[in-house]
Amino acid sequence: MSQPLLPKNVKRMEKGETFRFSCHPSVACFTNCCRQLELALTPYDVLRLKKGCHLRSEEFLDRYVIIEQEEDETFPRFYLTMVDDGQASCVFVSNAGCTLYQDRPGACRAYPLGRAAIRQADDTMDEFFVLLQESHCQGFQEQQEQNGTTYSTDQGLTIYNRFNDAVAAILQHDQIRQGKRLSEGQIEQFILALYNLDQFRTLLFAGQLSETAQVDDTSRHRLADDEELLLYAIDWLKDILFKN
Ligand code: SF4
Ligand code: SF4
Repeated sequence: MSQPLLPKNVKRMEKGETFRFSCHPSVACFTNCCRQLELALTPYDVLRLKKGCHLRSEEFLDRYVIIEQEEDETFPRFYLTMVDDGQASCVFVSNAGCTLYQDRPGACRAYPLGRAAIRQADDTMDEFFVLLQESHCQGFQEQQEQNGTTYSTDQGLTIYNRFNDAVAAILQHDQIRQGKRLSEGQIEQFILALYNLDQFRTLLFAGQLSETAQVDDTSRHRLADDEELLLYAIDWLKDILFKN
């Protein structure tokens, strides 16, 4: 498969290649990268953030998420709201750093790395890292040596990658690659299953979701857990979108 052209300040990392980087409250630019940014959210980001905010998913979406659907794109995109303070600051940034640090999104954890995961024909994922070197980021002046794998692990990205790969089975499904477009109803089901998890659970337990059997007590107990429910919702959505 041909590799996409990367911008000049983005470098594809070779396996095991190292870079020097560290971010901490003493860097001069601390929290600068939490402003003037477009922060796209994955389903697992929303799961963690709404938990961190102690909100139900529908309330979290209402308060903090902008949903955009471009005409020429198959899936809607979800962006974290920024504050109108002249700097377009993230709603969760404070002078002391991220107020939701334990549940911060995957992209915030990964910066300055990006992970590309491309689904292969045999359903395995081909993974590589890219390094984004922005001149304003002082973290590159630090001496700590990192590589993509250890940096991702240290930033708690393993669980984020696991869920992102599960969602990629939908976003990169063969039918999507062949040009399948979703109906309005399917887009609503996509939002419900992947991003509005508490409402999905309510409908599932009430027996009001299509293509689902009655949920027994054992399953209810298991699906009370958000992560278990998201895996269930991904499978449900796959069936809804692609089984015919
Ligand atoms: S710009 Fe770089 S060093 Fe500065 S706060 Fe952001 S990640 Fe850390
Ligand atoms: S969620 Fe936290 S780490 Fe991410 S941009 Fe906002 S304040 Fe910064």
